[in-house]
Amino acid sequence: MKLTKEILKNIIKKPATRNYPSVKQTPPKNYRGKISHNKEKCIYCSLCEKNCPSGAITVDRENKTWTCDYSLCTFCSQCVEECDKIKCHAIKLTDKYELAKPKKDFNV
Ligand code: SF4
Ligand code: SF4
Repeated sequence: MKLTKEILKNIIKKPATRNYPSVKQTPPKNYRGKISHNKEKCIYCSLCEKNCPSGAITVDRENKTWTCDYSLCTFCSQCVEECDKIKCHAIKLTDKYELAKPKKDFNV
C-alpha cells in the first residue's frame, strides 16, 4: 500500500530535471557566465592580462587585439574588476553558460 502511494505520487509529480537543451534554465541574478569584451572601450593596457589568475587573457598592445581562452577562464571576475579600476569598463560578465564548442573556436 505504501509503495502504491509512492508510485502514484511520483506519476503526478513534475520531473525534477529539465528537458535540456529544448528547455533552458534562466541563469540567476549576478550569474558569472562568459565574459564579453568591448573593443571600443578597451585601451589595450594589459592590466586584465597581468591580473588574470588563470592566464586566459592575451592582449597584444601593438596590434590592439584582445583574446580570451575560455577553456582556461574560471569566471572569477578579476579582469572585470581590474578594468573597472581604470574606468574603462571594457569587460563584462554575461549570463551565457553554453560554452561547449570545438577547441579551435575557444578564442572567439
Ligand atoms: S584592462 Fe580593460 S582596457 Fe585594459 S586591456 Fe584589459 S579590457 Fe582593455
Ligand atoms: S574571469 Fe577570471 S579567469 Fe576569466 S579571464 Fe577574467 S580574470 Fe581570467
